Amino acid sequence: MLVLKRVVKTYPKGSRRITALAPIDLTVSAGEFVAVEGPSGSGKTTCLLIAGGLLDPDSGRVLLDGHDLHAMTRNQLAAFRSQNIGFVFQQYHLIPYLSVLENILAPEAARGRADGQARGRALAGQFGLDHRLDHTPAELSSGEKQRTALARALLFQPKILLADEITGNLDHVNAQIVLGYLREYVKTGGSVLLVTHDREIASQADRVEYLPDPRELEAPR
Ligand code: ADP
Ligand code: MG
Repeated sequence: MLVLKRVVKTYPKGSRRITALAPIDLTVSAGEFVAVEGPSGSGKTTCLLIAGGLLDPDSGRVLLDGHDLHAMTRNQLAAFRSQNIGFVFQQYHLIPYLSVLENILAPEAARGRADGQARGRALAGQFGLDHRLDHTPAELSSGEKQRTALARALLFQPKILLADEITGNLDHVNAQIVLGYLREYVKTGGSVLLVTHDREIASQADRVEYLPDPRELEAPR
């Protein structure tokens, strides 16, 4: 289970600081698909990066199954992340000179687990990528790219999948396919935290949390 407790994040802007996340509390249970919905600039990406230990909050805590991410050393956190947390982004972040299968297996290369090959091929099959295993990302459709990124993130069955606007570059049909895979993942006991500005996408989660429009947080003149 993922818990964010009173998490605050500000960024410097000139001589001031802007608040990207006012105190936020959030819980995602095992087997739950939670969406965080908010307009552009409301802190969705910031929230997701903090939830995955990629960015430190100013204050507050992030616990995954009781482990405080931001209390770990860099090496501890890197190991913990690779075993427990998967990321998917709007821009896929595939490695352009590797094939689909090699991209999916990139976490295996980092961790050297023997079952990676078999799992990678099985996931590729499950995600309809069988006929694309030897293709490079440039040869894929948007939907195929995102399914490759999803297979890579799910290779070792992370406790939680963190997804940032992952349907942002997909048409309706492909967006529904990807969301379908997220729903299947939570049925197997995994957790999903999806951030999006898109109400229709968010509404397909088990639960939706809202980030306020940052303009509404500004002090009135
Ligand atoms: P969203 O993903 O909802 O669009 P972000 O988390 O990207 O929101 O950004 C929230 C606010 O923080 C925005 O005002 C943005 O400009 C600002 N911000 C995000 N990242 C940085 C950064 N690295 N440095 C300074 N300001 C940032
Ligand atoms: Mg964002």
